[in-house]
Amino acid sequence: MDHRVPALRDRLGGTTGLRWFRAPGRVNLIGDHIDYHDGFVLPMAVDRDCVVAARPRDDGRVTVRSVELPGEVDVAGDGSDEPAAVEPAWGRYVAGVVRALAGAGRPPVGLDAVLSSTVPVGSGLSSSAALEVAIALALVDAAAFVLPAPALARVCQRGEHLATGVPSGVMDQLVALLGRRGHALLIDCRTLGAEPIALPHALAVLVVHSGLPRTLAGSAYAERRGDGERVAARIGVTALRDAALDEVRDEPRARHVVTENERVLQFADALRAGDAATLGSLLLASHASLRDDYEVSTPELDLAVDLLVERGAIGARLTGAGFGGCVVALVPRAQVVEIASRTVAGYGAETGLAADAFEVHAVDRAGPLTAPVGA
Ligand code: ADP
Ligand code: MG
Repeated sequence: MDHRVPALRDRLGGTTGLRWFRAPGRVNLIGDHIDYHDGFVLPMAVDRDCVVAARPRDDGRVTVRSVELPGEVDVAGDGSDEPAAVEPAWGRYVAGVVRALAGAGRPPVGLDAVLSSTVPVGSGLSSSAALEVAIALALVDAAAFVLPAPALARVCQRGEHLATGVPSGVMDQLVALLGRRGHALLIDCRTLGAEPIALPHALAVLVVHSGLPRTLAGSAYAERRGDGERVAARIGVTALRDAALDEVRDEPRARHVVTENERVLQFADALRAGDAATLGSLLLASHASLRDDYEVSTPELDLAVDLLVERGAIGARLTGAGFGGCVVALVPRAQVVEIASRTVAGYGAETGLAADAFEVHAVDRAGPLTAPVGA
């Protein structure tokens, strides 16, 4: 039984009428800051997730509590509450999804829900998308409303925009809804098509949290997105995914997008071929591009990458939006514990910060939890 079940059940006063859902966080193996330029990305859903227990209520209100964060969210099920004004602030994600789903035609059925998440908050493993998708599944279920996964991902992305005002891409929501155990997903962010690619058994995926929260100001994200869109408009392509390297050679931001897109496709080929050396060099090239051309790294993330490689990782890179948060590395499976502990020790000695290193495993997509035992 999931360790969160008793707490969720107790907060909802027993099991009668309860429905359970879970949605995973994700780690992006390669392809950052290109989903919003229609590019290819290669994330995997991870064994850290958001679990929601929910019961329909008949007054049309959507009320949600979190085991991790204080306050109770209470919004109208028809989406009429302005998401960006909701308190507590984490409830904006709930309200954003409620409004986006209402816009997609979901009938305004009420819901009483409690959630609990093991995705670390604000670290680049997408605790926000895990929350959005888990809540969205509970909301569509209560209203007997059906949406295919790509449409539901778009709804959750829209919910995040309404909540935060940050024009983030669709990768996180899509991988939460389409993930497959033991596989990464090659996602085409233009068509929203996804191809599962098996991860080589000999390699483990190690995440190192820099000990610094992701301080991505929405403005920096929007600024970079805008930089790329202006270049796309000037050279006359729909999105930077369509640009050739020659057209963007002197534009560092756009150059990152074009080269990263190519690296994702090469990485997918190397995964299929089990070519560890190429995987490693593509991870390092991605990090260098995010650091030098896109300028979203920090000295701490750079240090974590260097230490991981010195201690035996085949490659490492910052993952997610950058500006703090996590680094992802591929490491020989037999050395994962040793590389993790030696990286954390070296990082602590140089920065005085407590890094956290943990292996993640690729898991299946979000969905209902079938009657948890004891619930
Ligand atoms: P990331 O998605 O990388 O973890 P974000 O800043 O995009 O970082 O999303 C983090 C936000 O998501 C939190 O500040 C909070 O508002 C919301 N959130 C995530 N997990 C929880 C949780 N367990 N309970 C309540 N809110 C959560
Ligand atoms: Mg997020």
